Amino acid sequence: MNGNDIISLGLGIESPWKISGQTLNQESTPHELRISLSTDRGASFPCPVCKKPCKAHDFRENTWRHLNFFQHHCYITAAVPRIRCEEHGVKKIEVPWARRGSKFTLLFEQVALSLVKEMPVRSAARIIGITDKKLWRIVFYYISVSMNKLDLSTLTAIGFDETASKRRHNYVTVFIDLDKEKQPVIFATVGKGKEVLRQFKQFLHRHGGHADRIVEVVCDMSKAFLAGVGEYFDKATVTVDWFHVVQTFTEAVNKVRVLESKQKELPKHTRWATLKNADGTLTENQKEALAELERMDFFTAIAWRVKEKLRWIRKAATPRAATWRLSHFLLNVSSMELHRSPLLQPVIEAIETVIRHRPAIEARWQSQHSTARLEGLNSLFQAARARARGYRNPMTFIAMIYLIASPIGNIINST
Ligand SMILES: [Zn+2]
Repeated sequence: MNGNDIISLGLGIESPWKISGQTLNQESTPHELRISLSTDRGASFPCPVCKKPCKAHDFRENTWRHLNFFQHHCYITAAVPRIRCEEHGVKKIEVPWARRGSKFTLLFEQVALSLVKEMPVRSAARIIGITDKKLWRIVFYYISVSMNKLDLSTLTAIGFDETASKRRHNYVTVFIDLDKEKQPVIFATVGKGKEVLRQFKQFLHRHGGHADRIVEVVCDMSKAFLAGVGEYFDKATVTVDWFHVVQTFTEAVNKVRVLESKQKELPKHTRWATLKNADGTLTENQKEALAELERMDFFTAIAWRVKEKLRWIRKAATPRAATWRLSHFLLNVSSMELHRSPLLQPVIEAIETVIRHRPAIEARWQSQHSTARLEGLNSLFQAARARARGYRNPMTFIAMIYLIASPIGNIINST
């Protein structure tokens, strides 16, 4: 096997194409290795439409960026024929080493994608030596092609959650297949609330699925989401995931703490002590803060105690036990005289939220699916944010979510 054969293998070139020359340009920095490909005179090429072998009509020289050869940038040059097909007229042929319209070889693009899956786009672009704008173009192309192939015909259970693509603004909602443990993301879009559910329904129908086959939806307790599920997925049972119940109360405790701290000084370390769970992960300082909160009868302590009672509900082993514990919880908190201070209003609102969504919360104990999946999305969001760091467009954030956690990773590898 000679050097040309090795390069041919790497490029995926086959007859009638062959390597006709290579030059190393040492004047440029970095040096450029240029490989020229050509075909035998009189060779035939398949028509891109009907695949019938046709003769060349004319040739046009094209150049593609290929993988670096050691430290040298490498380019492929070839005179690409246009054929004349009796049926389809004059057409440019496909070349085996690059996709139509791309200025990069397939191998170059595959390596680019595999780097982007592992590191921030900026760093990947630097390593392979192209601009990040060009790299994003490659990434977007493969994602859209792969997402088009996604088959959702067997989808029956979904979960979704929203997150901010950047601080505060630009919400992105992500949908997952609850039956899939790995690479569960099937759809991500800019926006939140009812509108994204409409979009997802359309997407589902374009990909072989049907809204009527969705029997379970896991989500948070936002009004807009629940209204959307009722309107677009009316055959589904809604399950509120436990993570969002806890979050509702954690936020309430935090609001009480902030309000109360404006009136009097709270013990040091109160903030983290009340945010954490009290099951052994507290530091000594935090334990002391909680003890003092209780002793001094702070409202923050009352709010925190309400939140801690949730853990007892979650541990219920059966649906019946859960129903009983939830009733007991509501009875218990109603005897705590939360109305005695306006400071406790956030807790009252959290409890009212639970009452309003009680069936969906209890559905968790009937559910065939782990509602912890949505909680797991948080680490995905963090990873995607890190990969897309420095780019403002929410599409870059969505692209990273797809690359890291949707099945397109496999689809890309198989193309
Ligand atoms: Zn043809």
